[in-house]
Amino acid sequence: KDASGNFPVSIIEGDGIGPEISQAVKDIFKAAGTPISWEPVDVTPTLVNGKTSIPADTIESIQRNKVALKGPLATPVGKGHVSLNLTLRRTFNLFANLRPCRSVAGYKTPYDNVDTVLIRENTEGEYSGIEHVVVDGVVQSIKLITREASERVLRFAFQQAEEIGRKKVRVVHKATIMKMSDGLFLKVARDVAKDYPNIEFDAELLDNTCLKMVTDPVPYNDKVLVMPNLYGDILSDMCAGLIGGLGLTPSGNIGDECSIFEAVHGSAPDIAGKGLANPTALLLSSMMMLRHMGLNDYANRIEKAAFDTLAEGKALTGDLGGKAKTHEFAAAIISKL
Ligand code: NAD
Repeated sequence: KDASGNFPVSIIEGDGIGPEISQAVKDIFKAAGTPISWEPVDVTPTLVNGKTSIPADTIESIQRNKVALKGPLATPVGKGHVSLNLTLRRTFNLFANLRPCRSVAGYKTPYDNVDTVLIRENTEGEYSGIEHVVVDGVVQSIKLITREASERVLRFAFQQAEEIGRKKVRVVHKATIMKMSDGLFLKVARDVAKDYPNIEFDAELLDNTCLKMVTDPVPYNDKVLVMPNLYGDILSDMCAGLIGGLGLTPSGNIGDECSIFEAVHGSAPDIAGKGLANPTALLLSSMMMLRHMGLNDYANRIEKAAFDTLAEGKALTGDLGGKAKTHEFAAAIISKL
């Protein structure tokens, strides 16, 4: 806690709609009397020895506070530095990406009872960035899987299952084809599972998971799914689609030391600055953050007010078929606190 008795949290407001949705979250937190003091940090990238880096005082702030809330960051195409999102994950070793997707009453989708929890390995796999040209017209891209990174994300999956009361951890893989890389991930999973006798463990092929999930997502409601990087990227967006899209889906990037919570969506340049953005995804990410900090009572209260506002359907933003501005939706939540 800081001198005012609040918990300091670093905040990266982000680009595009970032400042608008961040303001909505800050207003709601203030109205709920949440004991958080925001420490705004700047992540304008710098190139240090040819490598993308973020300012030193930002790194210091996040390391000190251990927790950050992050708005979307636009990745400039062809500007010579790697994605800032990737840089943040690497800088703070945020090895697990936790993505829950729960149906939202008030927004009709083909399924009413979706409640998936997906964990994506966040540091290697197909995102290791090791690519080269063998000869003209032939390229190789290397999927890097290590026992160490696999083990820590798999342990996190079992711990998460215990924490949120889910009975089963399921590894999603393609070890039939990627025998060595996914094979290692799967083998480590089997080994780690022995340390968690109260949690059931099984594995499923990625294509089968996709087919079954869009046919009937409900059987996934008692499981935690865990998988290598790229599969998690794609499958989590598919889960987002099942509940009504990117405006509603939160995530947490979890590391041993620090954790950064963020909406799954991007900076939405098409609607930026117009007050049209839906702040729900960032708000639900901040609820994950509050629970991570042990401030569950505040999270439960704010989350109930948000879900009630969505269910009531009177002040919805455009992406959910309403006409409300970002601040009007936030005000409706605040009126229910
Ligand atoms: P996007 O998620 O920004 O937008 C996709 C569509 O969804 C757009 O039509 C947008 O208006 C809509 N949308 C997204 N969030 C919304 C919200 N909260 N409320 C209402 N509508 C919303 O994806 P994009 O257009 O592919 O990417 C734009 C930029 O964001 C790119 O520079 C990309 O690199 C970046 N990006 C950042 C992150 C991140 O910071 N984690 C994630 C994805 C994309």
